[in-house]
Amino acid sequence: KTDVMREGFCFYSEDMESKFISRRRLYMQLKSAIAANNVIALYQPIVDANTGSLKAVEALMRIREQDDSLISPIEFIPLAEETRLIIPLGERMIQLAFEQLKRWCDDGLNIRMCLNISPIQFFDPHFVPFLLKAIDEYHINPKMVELEVTESLMLDSLQQVIRDMEQLREMGISISIDDFGTGFSCLSYLKELPVDVLKIDKSFVAQLSIEKPDEILVKTITTLAQSMGLKSVAEGVESLDQARRLKELGVSYLQGYYFSRPVMANEVRGSYDL
Ligand code: C2E
Ligand code: CA
Ligand code: CA
Ligand code: CA
Repeated sequence: KTDVMREGFCFYSEDMESKFISRRRLYMQLKSAIAANNVIALYQPIVDANTGSLKAVEALMRIREQDDSLISPIEFIPLAEETRLIIPLGERMIQLAFEQLKRWCDDGLNIRMCLNISPIQFFDPHFVPFLLKAIDEYHINPKMVELEVTESLMLDSLQQVIRDMEQLREMGISISIDDFGTGFSCLSYLKELPVDVLKIDKSFVAQLSIEKPDEILVKTITTLAQSMGLKSVAEGVESLDQARRLKELGVSYLQGYYFSRPVMANEVRGSYDL
């Protein structure tokens, strides 16, 4: 019996130890990725629901490993937020995305750049100055920049968030609410926030035409967006059927594997089949 218990205990602590080591390893990996230019931006097209023409791209972060494989943000964003490394990582993404946006703009391609901003980064006092400086340095038209934030941002210091958003908005930067509908938050914040776009979460899109309630939800969100003068984007569009249905439901823009996975900048096309 003692043996079993001892083994049990050993197993447990080894497990904790390996968890600690892998977190430690990931932390070091993130830190060195920032220094060694191994933060990568992939871009996923966002298309006009009526024409399929390219309207914007969403920049999605990856970490390049020694063997050139890419680590997904699902694996590192939680740790990056806990350790606040998300701030330098996010700053690097802003630089990469603006560099690319400048290149596209010089080539005559007028598309918007959507950037995911973690609440940790948004609340960092250096965030707004950093962004404005980068806009200046890379000669970016602020009208081409859209920041994706989640409803969790609205949970605290709403007044400060409103002030920051208004400042960004005055410069011409757009704000979108990512994963809209999953946050269980009170919708009244929409009245107060200077928001431009609602991004319908992919969980609602996945169930379209399978489950009636999701269709009603998507319809309700697009109607809400329209009546408040906002645009709507559906993410996670994986089939032509979904694309057509979303268009019928009044969604303005579409994004998903049906059009393209997140890809390297040179693989982004000017228009997509619809
Ligand atoms: P998100 O902002 O909701 O981004 C959309 C995610 O859905 C992306 O995953 C994208 O690759 C995936 N996706 C796109 N189309 C489809 C589809 O048709 N089907 C399915 N099943 N998935 C699709 P990804 O790139 O792994 O990013 C995951 C999350 O990590 C993002 O979710 C975002 O919350 C976060 N993230 C990514 N890049 C950044 C970044 O630069 N900064 C911050 N703070 N967070 C980021
Ligand atoms: Ca997003
Ligand atoms: Ca999303
Ligand atoms: Ca998400």
